[in-house]
Amino acid sequence: VERTLAMVKPDGVMGNYSEEIKKMIAATGFVIAAEKVVQLDEAAVGIFYAEHSQREFFPSLVKFMTSGPVLAMVLEKENAVAQWRALIGPTDATKARISHPKSIRAMCGSDSQNNCVHGSDSHQSAAREVAFFFGNHKSG
Ligand code: ATP
Repeated sequence: VERTLAMVKPDGVMGNYSEEIKKMIAATGFVIAAEKVVQLDEAAVGIFYAEHSQREFFPSLVKFMTSGPVLAMVLEKENAVAQWRALIGPTDATKARISHPKSIRAMCGSDSQNNCVHGSDSHQSAAREVAFFFGNHKSG
């Protein structure tokens, strides 16, 4: 069965959306194989979002992602990577509210940065991101 890395970002955790998001995860048929609340620091965000480290928004992204704890989860389901991306909706929550009103980002995101949740964008990213939070174990 396929796995992906889901994360409730600091805006979602601090806004108390974690339980509602877990209900949506369960209702869509995912199994939460592992979960962990983590406070990321600047170095960790630099590793996790290395692909964005040269972007102009990166300093702001670091500030956001270190502003409070995140909830990282390993989700299991057939076609988990694509299914989770579909459930979270587009990156920009203001657009998600129009085009994907039932998506998680439409529910609890604010804009293109504070967008409440993350999902791996490929099998390769999923493997890297699961290892980042949980090591190369099945759960942790
Ligand atoms: P994620 O990787 O978190 O699931 P994504 O794949 O939809 O999001 P990316 O383009 O990979 O979006 O950007 C990673 C994260 O960086 C976004 O989720 C958002 O928090 C932030 N970000 C992306 N674009 C912008 C932007 N233009 N301005 C500010 N922050 C941004």
